[in-house]
Amino acid sequence: MRSQTPGPPPERGLFCNRTLNLRAIKAVGYDMDYTLIHYRVEAWERRAYEHIRDRLVAQGWPVGDLQFDPALAIRGLIIDTEKGNLLKANRFGFVKKALHGTRSMDFITQRDEYSHTVIDLHERRWVFLNTLFSLSEACLYSQLVDRLDAGQLPGPMGYADLYEHVRKNLDATHMQGQLKAEIIADPERYVLDDPETPLALLDQKNAGKKLLLITNSEWAYTEPMMHFAFDKHLPDGMTWRQLFDVVIVSARKPEFFTTRSALFEVVETQGEALLRPHSSGPFKSGTPYFGGSALELERHLGMSGDEILYVGDHMFGDVHVSKSALRWRTALILRELEDEVRAIAAFRPTEARLGERMVLKEKLEWESCQLRLELQRRRANYGPRTDALTESELVARLGELRESLEGLDTELGPMARAATELSNPIWGLLTRAGNDKSHLARQVERYADIYTSRVSNFLFATPFVYLRSPRGSLPHDPSLPGGTPVFPAPDTGGGMAEAE
Ligand code: IMP
Ligand code: MG
Repeated sequence: MRSQTPGPPPERGLFCNRTLNLRAIKAVGYDMDYTLIHYRVEAWERRAYEHIRDRLVAQGWPVGDLQFDPALAIRGLIIDTEKGNLLKANRFGFVKKALHGTRSMDFITQRDEYSHTVIDLHERRWVFLNTLFSLSEACLYSQLVDRLDAGQLPGPMGYADLYEHVRKNLDATHMQGQLKAEIIADPERYVLDDPETPLALLDQKNAGKKLLLITNSEWAYTEPMMHFAFDKHLPDGMTWRQLFDVVIVSARKPEFFTTRSALFEVVETQGEALLRPHSSGPFKSGTPYFGGSALELERHLGMSGDEILYVGDHMFGDVHVSKSALRWRTALILRELEDEVRAIAAFRPTEARLGERMVLKEKLEWESCQLRLELQRRRANYGPRTDALTESELVARLGELRESLEGLDTELGPMARAATELSNPIWGLLTRAGNDKSHLARQVERYADIYTSRVSNFLFATPFVYLRSPRGSLPHDPSLPGGTPVFPAPDTGGGMAEAE
């Protein structure tokens, strides 16, 4: 019998890198910010940006006129703090596109700067934009690099010092109460409501899974925000606190996954939250906790890593570390995927044309290589050769081929450029870099067992789904009928530099 339930739109799928049987998962842990609660990125990041900028103004920096530009940075880019650049790298760590400050770097400069560089994120020089919370920082840093170059900032100061300064002020903005107080006071303005998320979690809970909330946010923020996002969508009389078996705030991820630290109970008395050390023993139900560690949580739950699925939006703090340190099963929330999948679908007809023309280009290139070799052997008088054409005929045919190839490149150029500008005119797609996977895509592959645009996509899949990874393809696999390379990269002379 065929299922009557309509499937989700393609962009709301659960995408699987490593097979995951949700039935075998006994506990699902959730991050809060940008996972259970999705913010209106532009509003949240603009406000965060303004707070950081205003802190700098208060320190005497002449930057009061700077404005947040939401298109300047995307998640997955890398800041080169040594050179004041914003970079997009491919899966091997080669730089494929660069801005210095807010200005696009030309092909030659980019090649000179980066052709010998492989980005290794373990080095302090590089800062990976792990989450949507990173956009304000990247935008402001790039704009400040312009100002630093123009000699408009207090000095002496290098690009790395400038980064540290922005970072310090960003941390302070997130940690001091003012920004959060504004969000709590006007949540409609900053939060994108998703009534399906509470239902997806209810389904999981009623299917027998333990639900965990593990957030870096403090209790004073977590409580009102979860109340706002969840309670109105839960059955009468139920609150978000009844949904979760364990709630941990101020978790200090990623250290939460790697280091033991003290666990406190959050005690609410007369509207105030106090901390009381948790004496050993099981967690009390209904009590929110502060700090602690994943090891302690595993012990309390009596579960091992592969029985716990952790769902978060932070590439490093949520997904990379929980996978590497504890072998938890992992799900990455990547909201931008919805736009990305739609943009790829809309580009399909152009991509097909691009593929067709690339097949022709490769054919002409092949012939050109053969004829060049024939000419070389003939002139140097060695090796086998065909003698089908005279030398002057060979030269003439090579000229024709060169002309045809140039014509093809002229035709391919705009299409290839359009492929690199999908979704964002500067950076293109999140998951692609030139013809290859982006550095972000590589990390998703390594650390996220599954990835999806939002938590409520679990609703379509049900708590009983068996997600199977596709058979990975390799360059030597025979291509399927009609299977052309995705986004082939012709030599257009500009755009994404071939650094490798
Ligand atoms: P989570 O995603 O639920 O774990 O919570 C993220 C928390 O970390 C939020 O309270 C953010 O305000 C905070 N946060 C995000 N980025 C930064 C940062 O760069 N510095 C300090 N706090 C941050
Ligand atoms: Mg988060």
